[in-house]
Amino acid sequence: MGTCDYCGSRFPKTRATRKYCTPRCKTNACLDRKPSRLRAADVQAIYELLASEFDCAEELKERLRAILAPQMPPIPLDGNRVIIPRMD
Ligand SMILES: [Zn+2]
Repeated sequence: MGTCDYCGSRFPKTRATRKYCTPRCKTNACLDRKPSRLRAADVQAIYELLASEFDCAEELKERLRAILAPQMPPIPLDGNRVIIPRMD
């Protein structure tokens, strides 16, 4: 038996290299993986951020997210201001 690297469930291991219980878990793990290297174009884009001016930290965070994690939902900005969800 093996333990799935993604969901942690036990599954019968058929090969030594098998780390995930199902192809779905393998795909999810692949999608979740954080890249350990940046593309040269992304490095360039981050250098450009260093030279840029921002009205608030969230604007910078959103620009960084767009470069590093385009698959993540955007940080909501209204113009240059963060949208704070109302509780009512
Ligand atoms: Zn799994």
